[in-house]
Amino acid sequence: MEKTARLILGDQLNQRHSWFGKKEESVVYLMMEIRQETDYVKHHVQKVLAFFQSMRNFADWLEKQGHQVIYLPIDHKENRQHLEENILHVVKSEKFKRFEYQLPDEYRLDIQLQKICKQLNIKTKSFDTEHFLSDRESVKTFFSGKKSYLMESFYRSMRETFDILMQGQKPLGGKWNYDQENRNNYRGEVPVPPLPAFGRDLNELLKTIEKAEIETLGTVDPKNFPWPCSREESVTVLEFFLEELLPYFGTYQDAMHSGEPFLFHSRLSFALNSKMLQPLEVIQKAESCLQKNPEKYGMAQVEGFIRQILGWREFMRGIYWAKMPDYAQMNFFGHKRPLPSFFWDGNTKMNCLKHAIGQSLEHAYAHHIQRLMVTGNFALLAGIDPDEVDQWYLGIYIDAIEWVEITNTRGMSQFADGGIVGTKPYVSSANYIDKMSNYCGSCHYSKTKKTGDKSCPFNSLYWAFYERNREKLQNNPRIGFVYNTLSKMKQKDEILEQAESYLERLEEL
Ligand code: FAD
Ligand code: SF4
Repeated sequence: MEKTARLILGDQLNQRHSWFGKKEESVVYLMMEIRQETDYVKHHVQKVLAFFQSMRNFADWLEKQGHQVIYLPIDHKENRQHLEENILHVVKSEKFKRFEYQLPDEYRLDIQLQKICKQLNIKTKSFDTEHFLSDRESVKTFFSGKKSYLMESFYRSMRETFDILMQGQKPLGGKWNYDQENRNNYRGEVPVPPLPAFGRDLNELLKTIEKAEIETLGTVDPKNFPWPCSREESVTVLEFFLEELLPYFGTYQDAMHSGEPFLFHSRLSFALNSKMLQPLEVIQKAESCLQKNPEKYGMAQVEGFIRQILGWREFMRGIYWAKMPDYAQMNFFGHKRPLPSFFWDGNTKMNCLKHAIGQSLEHAYAHHIQRLMVTGNFALLAGIDPDEVDQWYLGIYIDAIEWVEITNTRGMSQFADGGIVGTKPYVSSANYIDKMSNYCGSCHYSKTKKTGDKSCPFNSLYWAFYERNREKLQNNPRIGFVYNTLSKMKQKDEILEQAESYLERLEEL
């Protein structure tokens, strides 16, 4: 084999990839920490740490397996801090005859790598990452000729294809979906066990990041860094989740609690998105828990969890590749307001937002319902520019990579795609937030008031959102009831005035 450079990106840490099955004298793996990736958005400090540490551990693992590695740390003098310049330089100086890479998950990197290949005057080849269960085109092909994309039908076909939770041709237990059983509030009835500590100190790496003057947001305790940064640590988190948290996952999936930032969620998104864990192994392990111990686990818990990975995660990736690059420009409602500054410091009187944003800054984490029904809900009701909303979500979360961030944010949460991902906007008044959390009880605002002093902003903004988008939404069959209620509402003008006054002083809320 000719002397070959194989690129491994920071989110391609898949030890099970067929590349690594045999050692080749002529192959050198190339990894790099670059400003191109740390600076395209301001990231949470935990996210930069988690990626760098995981990449370094992966490079160590490769060397231990006997592979050759060129690793460019962020402070290396030969590091040109840019993908293209580093690759061109290394290929030339090391006299490589071939360049190979795994297909990136992000559109911008896909285009960039194609461009780099054209500039290299050597043979080039791309490989699958061997991580996802469907390929880039699957969702597009599955829904070809259809008007809308429905996650549920894609999910069912994935269950059949991979024979997950099936009994012959039928869904195990007789039902495909147990969503209705997964809507409990949490009142502390089951204690949430703490994640086992990894017992390592990332202070040196943190100092390197600070010395390089990478701009970050949020806080970190490097001595108790909670995110898995190697395959072994990822498996530890998975085993902990299966044993301790999965039995309650479905029940409390949508619940929110000011004292429990993680509840019974798995915290596996970083390990999955960096490919230290494979989706199929996670799904099969969860399924085998149910098979071995149905009394402990129960169908609603396990199906609820598997649907997120086999359904939503694969579906979102398919939507991304079906709709990019246009997707990144979509703004169905034409929203243009800037993101209020309390998104960056949590300094607001709205208790739900204070907690959801506060824990995001502290842990680089909020679970799905906090992202969707608190921060996302507020941004949509307030008419915030989806570009600014995207930038925030892309920076703040440990698991934020564009293919899964943008489809969830611009699509599911902001309805900026006009209904590709969701069939109607996910918005609510205080009622839903109160039902699913303990936030409203100790809030400055009153959850029951729609107008006047201390009325909850969600209550008036909710109706004003529907009123201002009447033309775009009133024919949606899932929304008709809202307009019926609005037309009969006696307080309508007052509520709309209240919303207007809140919109004029968003920063003060
Ligand atoms: P769990 O609740 O334990 O779920 C298990 C796994 O299922 C997750 O690890 C994840 O891999 C997968 N999953 C669950 N929901 C989704 C979903 N809607 N789309 C894709 N995969 C899903 N997820 C990301 O991985 N990266 C993002 O940048 C991201 N941005 C989001 C932005 C918004 C506005 C919303 C509403 C959701 C976003 N999500 C994103 C989806 C979801 O919120 C996170 O995957 C989840 O909160 C991660 O925590 P967990 O690992 O504890 O998940
Ligand atoms: Fe949030 Fe309104 Fe409840 Fe306060 S009252 S926590 S602002 S929903």
